[in-house]
Amino acid sequence: MSKTIYLDNHATTPLDPRVLEAMLPYFGPRFGNPASRTHRYGWESGKAVELGRQQVAGLIGADPQEIVFTSGATESNNLAIKGAAEELRSRGSHIVSMSTEHKAVLDPIHHLEREGFSATILGPRADGLIDLDEFRASLRPETILASIMFANNEIGVVQPVREIGAICRERGVLFHCDAAQAFGKLPVDLASEPIDLLSFSGHKIYGPKGVGGLFVRRHPVRVRLASQMDGGGHENGYRSGTLNVPGIVGLGAAAAIAGEEMAGESLRLKALRDALKLRLEAALPGLRINGSMEHRLPGNLNVSFAGVDGETLLMSLPDVALSTSAACSSGAMESSSVVRALGATEAEAQASVRFGLGRFTTAEEIDCAAARVIEVVSRIRALTPVG
Ligand SMILES: *Cc1c(COP(=O)(O)O)cnc(C)c1O
Repeated sequence: MSKTIYLDNHATTPLDPRVLEAMLPYFGPRFGNPASRTHRYGWESGKAVELGRQQVAGLIGADPQEIVFTSGATESNNLAIKGAAEELRSRGSHIVSMSTEHKAVLDPIHHLEREGFSATILGPRADGLIDLDEFRASLRPETILASIMFANNEIGVVQPVREIGAICRERGVLFHCDAAQAFGKLPVDLASEPIDLLSFSGHKIYGPKGVGGLFVRRHPVRVRLASQMDGGGHENGYRSGTLNVPGIVGLGAAAAIAGEEMAGESLRLKALRDALKLRLEAALPGLRINGSMEHRLPGNLNVSFAGVDGETLLMSLPDVALSTSAACSSGAMESSSVVRALGATEAEAQASVRFGLGRFTTAEEIDCAAARVIEVVSRIRALTPVG
């Protein structure tokens, strides 16, 4: 049996062998606790953590002191959203976000709603982008926080974060951005971008799972958060708990590689993605592209094949690892709420398939995957009465 082609890089990415190499000593002889300040074992681990912090900060134009390591983007989103809300409660209790956000943003907001906060959840335009006028109009005097993602995990659409941040600044609203899909894939420069809090994850950039971080702005104005994990006061008091040293070393190495290779990798992925799109369009009439092609991650394509159920399609394609929408934690078969939010019908949403290309995707794999998808869609269509 030939190898299954992996096109689900938005769910997770394989560990880059160079990242594994960098991590290995920290599972072995370099086991020290970075909080141990009285011996070499502790110093060695402490140095490794600080290098990781510099590598991460370097990728996004931040000061290393602005990086808080966490267990991943889910925890970072929780810390940012709940931590900011708790800290700013005396100033107001209104939060603005979007319906196309990841559950790791929407669920913490729903949690806060149960605690007395109120939220405005904006829908996207038909192309998946935020309507900036609608966003501006949603901000109230009591709005304390806006949480809008950088790039979408299903349709790959990239939001105008600079403009969103500028509006937030103007109105004195804190801006949190879930950048799990953009970090290491798109240029991010927090020295110039008006973002106050930014979440990221290791396993979306060919690093390890279970590690990520939150950028918490210190310059020119220091953002304060109520910690959500109390204990030894690690990470400037924002996140207690002994640091995941191998994970942080891996995240740092992955960030450094992403920074070096981003420009070339983006061009390569975009060319592969565009070739895939052209091939599918040429062979399959009635293809719906979900989300803007212009403002989009280079490695993402999300399409609906008219008349073909996405789940049925993927079941018939065991040799290509694809996803119908978000990697669903519950495993429940539900059509994509992101695709529905674009104005797609239920049938179109159920017909949506996400292609996530990555660093290790080859032209041969795209060729082979496209041929398989075309073959299976055509077969399903031939079997389904048109109605
Ligand atoms: C993957 C992802 C998350 C969750 O990240 P973890 O590190 O797995 O917790 C959050 N938001 C977006 C947009 C994601 O793609």
